[in-house]
Amino acid sequence: MRIAVVGGTGYVGLTTAVCLAARGHLVFCVGRSPDKIQRLIQGIPIIYEEKLEEMLKDVLKRRTFVPTTDLKKAVQGSDVSFICVGTPCGDDGSIDLTQIRGASREIGCALKDKVGYHVVVVKSTVVPGTTEDIVLPILEKFSGKRVGADFGVCMNPEFLREGRAVNDFMLPKETGIVIGEIDQKSGDLVSKIYEDFDGEILRTSIRAAEMIKYARNSYLAKDISFANEFANICQRLGVDYLDVKKGLEMDARIGEGRFLDAGAGFGGSCFPKDVNAIVAKAKEIGILPVMLESTLNVNEVQPYELVKLTKQVVGNPLNGKRIAVLGLAFKPGTDDMREAPSIKVINSLLREGCEISVYDSKAVRNAKKIFGSHVEYAEKAEEALRHADACVIVTEWPEFANPKLYTCMRGRVIIDGRRVLNPATLPLGFIYHAIGFLGAVKK
Ligand code: NAD
Repeated sequence: MRIAVVGGTGYVGLTTAVCLAARGHLVFCVGRSPDKIQRLIQGIPIIYEEKLEEMLKDVLKRRTFVPTTDLKKAVQGSDVSFICVGTPCGDDGSIDLTQIRGASREIGCALKDKVGYHVVVVKSTVVPGTTEDIVLPILEKFSGKRVGADFGVCMNPEFLREGRAVNDFMLPKETGIVIGEIDQKSGDLVSKIYEDFDGEILRTSIRAAEMIKYARNSYLAKDISFANEFANICQRLGVDYLDVKKGLEMDARIGEGRFLDAGAGFGGSCFPKDVNAIVAKAKEIGILPVMLESTLNVNEVQPYELVKLTKQVVGNPLNGKRIAVLGLAFKPGTDDMREAPSIKVINSLLREGCEISVYDSKAVRNAKKIFGSHVEYAEKAEEALRHADACVIVTEWPEFANPKLYTCMRGRVIIDGRRVLNPATLPLGFIYHAIGFLGAVKK
């Protein structure tokens, strides 16, 4: 099938475009920045995701992937357009639909002179009602055409996880595929795109598809806040939260694989903004979403638990102490710093007067846009650690699980925000503390 991906220079857009091209579809990857499109033409992925670079080079060679800034030509040359633009939250937490409106307008204009049937698919996360009440009327207005007769509309939420985006997209067995359809013809065409993918397809109304994405993200975010709140209580009571977590997972009604790891809180481009957006939507219709708000409230302050622990162990005030922060990205496997807990941790430590050295194998380029010259950027973990009084692990990159890494430290204090280290494996003399763990001094 011929497919246009609008927002193709973003995380979801680029992954969608490359993966659909890898499945043999002819994909026009539409972006607005000529510089980014030029880099894609040269085979340089503009984001970091495992396997993305090899796949990008492969689909360029096979000529199934066409990066372009020409949205009109891309839509007119396609059977289906995916809208993958950003849906950030506004100042009040509600969804900001500026990019959605803009993309819908441009696609509508392109559809005006398009010959043949076309389906527009909203893949961006949007609050229920957006596709039918906002996208669809814009498409009809600017194309002068009628939905149902001249074009179709679907909503196909994306469930990929950053850090394993390519894998998740190519193998949707764990998440399934949800297609919300305005009519059967639209849904049939979009289902055809996914016929070679190994994942169950659920066909629903458009509003249900929109809501499923919020329900999933809110559910998982709630698990994380639950884990963090319990871990904080455990820590004060001298209980190891890891034991409690094992006990939770033993219960079949709770089960393994839940989001029960305690840590510095959730970040990224989805959980915080999506829970905020559904909270705002609920309030708009007169519902007080107490549980969802609590999820956000716990998360808001969780990164500061790491700073509190650092003060408790290294000494209060922290003024003049040198702290190594390991991990900047909001989770391992990505370079994404959006809403990363590391931002709150580092800014708070800077306000305390600490000197900060940071290390992350992928996210330094993005971190420099946030912290500028206020922190030192190390090229290796050892370089960040060498002269540090203490180390704070914020992102669970696997390399931080190696206890030998820490032997070069001047101070011997480790605050593990993600429980990546087993304190029993640390060399003698280390002081180890973690969220949900009372702390251990090795003699
Ligand atoms: P992003 O900000 O990385 O990408 C959005 C891209 O759209 C940007 O590159 C922007 O320049 C581009 N864009 C905006 N208007 C455009 C237009 N008119 N024409 C062409 N390009 C345009 O955002 P993202 O993280 O990829 O998220 C996109 C959507 O997918 C959001 O709704 C998000 O909630 C959802 N989502 C994200 C993830 C994730 O892990 N990042 C997972 C599932 C769903």
